[in-house]
Amino acid sequence: MSAPAATTGAGARLPVVDYLVLGEDPHLRAHECVSCAARFFDRRVACASCGAREFTEVRVPSQGTVRSFTIVHVAMPGVRTPFVSAIVDCEGTSVRATLVNVPPDPEHVRLGMAVRLVTSPIGTDEKGTEAVGFGFEPALRPESSRKP
Ligand SMILES: [Zn+2]
Repeated sequence: MSAPAATTGAGARLPVVDYLVLGEDPHLRAHECVSCAARFFDRRVACASCGAREFTEVRVPSQGTVRSFTIVHVAMPGVRTPFVSAIVDCEGTSVRATLVNVPPDPEHVRLGMAVRLVTSPIGTDEKGTEAVGFGFEPALRPESSRKP
């Protein structure tokens, strides 16, 4: 791949959320409470679970399981519908995300479905900086029939 690009301008890529890490191996990162290990994607002064004030940054696994989902038919102007809004359990960390590369209907989206993180360009500004978002797409997993 190439050397790190400039932060703005032609050829640059910027994640749409600050917890999305781009590069050759895109992933999500979370703030983990050092006291109780609760994980949050937004910046917090104190842990919502235990009140501790110290966090470390952790990498969130890019493989997950669909815990719940909603097929969204009505959205803001400019947002293409229908789409699938889901809660994905990434080995214990809950991630709210859109499911992509799957037809948005209950025949194709199932609870417990194995998914993996994907990034996709969502637009380019007038200077050529590309905004990059993320979603989850269906993934094949050999032990998918096993129940916990
Ligand atoms: Zn905590």
